Amino acid sequence: MDKRVGIYIHIPFCASKCAYCNFYSLIGSDKLMTPYCDAVISHIEEYSSQLDGVLIDTVYFGGGTPGHFGTGRLVSILNALKKNGHVLLDSEVTVEINPGGITKEELVKLRRAGFNRLSIGVQCANDGMLKNLGRTHTFADAEETVSFARQAGFENISVDIIYGLPSQDKDSWAETIAKTASLKAEHISCYGLKIEEGTQLYVFKDSPFLPDDDVQADMYLYAVEMLARFGYRQYEISNFSRRGYESKHNLKYWLGEEYIGFGAAAHSYIGKCRYSFIEDVEKYIERVSQGQVVVEYSEKMSDFENAGEYLMFRLRTTHGISEEEYYDIYRLKMDYVLELLRKYEEEGWALFKDGRWRFTPTGFMLSNSLIGELLDAQTRQRTQISKPWQTESAEEDSQMTLFNKRPLTQGLFGGRRLVGSQEPT
Ligand code: SF4
Repeated sequence: MDKRVGIYIHIPFCASKCAYCNFYSLIGSDKLMTPYCDAVISHIEEYSSQLDGVLIDTVYFGGGTPGHFGTGRLVSILNALKKNGHVLLDSEVTVEINPGGITKEELVKLRRAGFNRLSIGVQCANDGMLKNLGRTHTFADAEETVSFARQAGFENISVDIIYGLPSQDKDSWAETIAKTASLKAEHISCYGLKIEEGTQLYVFKDSPFLPDDDVQADMYLYAVEMLARFGYRQYEISNFSRRGYESKHNLKYWLGEEYIGFGAAAHSYIGKCRYSFIEDVEKYIERVSQGQVVVEYSEKMSDFENAGEYLMFRLRTTHGISEEEYYDIYRLKMDYVLELLRKYEEEGWALFKDGRWRFTPTGFMLSNSLIGELLDAQTRQRTQISKPWQTESAEEDSQMTLFNKRPLTQGLFGGRRLVGSQEPT
């Protein structure tokens, strides 16, 4: 038994709704927390025979706001996982919390139970902007929570920050970066705001108070440069860490490794199959308790789709892609992709080093469209090899099949979430 997987637990409860949030999370439904916790535990128990054959080396409690769920419930779920699966002793066990939303005593309980990494939603160092975003904490709360976490024994802390906020200019972004660095976390995630339909911020979509694309681009490049000066190495489009503190769990998503999700709206990727559970807490509780199916979506991935994901996800990271690796895994050539990458190199968007191709910071910024072009090239090459007689429109059809099944990976301006709704909030 040497197959390693990550476990994702989705906790879709929050104390209040942030103005930019379009994630599935419930407000004012705290009475559902205990039944939900019981349902997740039952689900893990029901799944125990499948967990039997794998080693769990990362566990991630995301949301929502898991910190709002109550430490007792979080610990019960982690204990259920340990009882029903092989959670390795040196596993990375992360929980997302919000500043000011958890006490020192609760953090001590979490640490003692085996949680060893915190992801804290700091978002911004300006209290006025935090208020406008509907956040219920201040930057001082963030400082206090980090201090409590250190006292509780957490040696691996990540903080999230957002750029492109209403009224945010380059100076206030620089202040957020500097103050965030002063928290001395091991890891920083830095996301560009995307205004989504259905959020409170949507009415400001075309407002002059929002930084335009050029300003956002400057903010991103500034963050890459300044965070490097503060000792944070970029390893993914939006993620930076001290050496050795990259998120092991999130790297599984980007490197195409396997993970199993539990909870309403949780996604999984295992055995070349992607599936997700129903995005409704009450239905999830009811169906799990009645032993009914909770899978809402599933898709068996073809080798070609997996090869597309290799390009999409690995190019999000500084690990990048390699021609040999691609051929070894998928038995596919990537001549057309390489042709484009060489062009991107001339533009300063990609670089080739130690046998691997990766994007530069400017390339990351444009990654949405660049990855789209690379996938087009991959489809073209496949079409020509397998069906040289295929017409241009048939070629477009085969391309649409790949792209329409799932959205392209979200790039710099593509929002804050990786496919699977399983990134920190
Ligand atoms: S952004 Fe995070 S904390 Fe805010 S409402 Fe959404 S899920 Fe909850």
